[in-house]
Amino acid sequence: MEPIFLKIGYGIILLGTSIIRYPHGRRNKANQIITNRKENLEKLLLGLTFLGMMIIPLIYMFTHLFAFANYNLPVSLQIIGILLIAPMLWLFYRSHKDLGQNWSVSLEIRQDHHIVDSGVYKYIRHPMYSAIWLWVIIQALLLNNYIAGLAGLISFGSLYFLRVKNEEQMMISEFGTEYVKYMQKTKRIIPFVI
Ligand code: SAH
Repeated sequence: MEPIFLKIGYGIILLGTSIIRYPHGRRNKANQIITNRKENLEKLLLGLTFLGMMIIPLIYMFTHLFAFANYNLPVSLQIIGILLIAPMLWLFYRSHKDLGQNWSVSLEIRQDHHIVDSGVYKYIRHPMYSAIWLWVIIQALLLNNYIAGLAGLISFGSLYFLRVKNEEQMMISEFGTEYVKYMQKTKRIIPFVI
């Protein structure tokens, strides 16, 4: 498929996720943070993830700087990438909506924080991370370039594996058995699987 169509597909993700997240970021700014578990490594990986999923793709989309690192993929895989955009945006939207006031870009507990275990959180504990895993997979399928295509998988992958354990630890120390019970009923990112 022509790279321009694939780049437009990735552009839709960047625009769509920003529009979905914007009101939550704005509203939650006013919501006081009472526990903050941000370590330096977490901060570094969060920065690298921003670079890997937004900045590096934008450089690839608008310049020829990374042209030496392009790869080819079968059209069927590119089409799968395009078809995954809508379910990914839907899950990104649902998880923000269900988490509501409890959402944070990092590891934080806010005032009046409570456990959300309904909506998409009824099936998995980390639907937002599932959506972001889909996002970085789509990124590799649409941006056929070793730098721009893989930067998301590598940066978000590292952040995920560091964060998910810390996040669950934080939730357990904050909410105790209520979260442990919720963990027993749910998987992390794929319902009934993992
Ligand atoms: N890991 C979740 C949430 C990501 S946002 C997901 O992937 O959908 C990160 C913040 O969400 C954390 O700082 C934590 O305070 C909060 N959080 C995570 N799981 C939660 C839950 N089940 N209920 C309420 N808040 C939660």
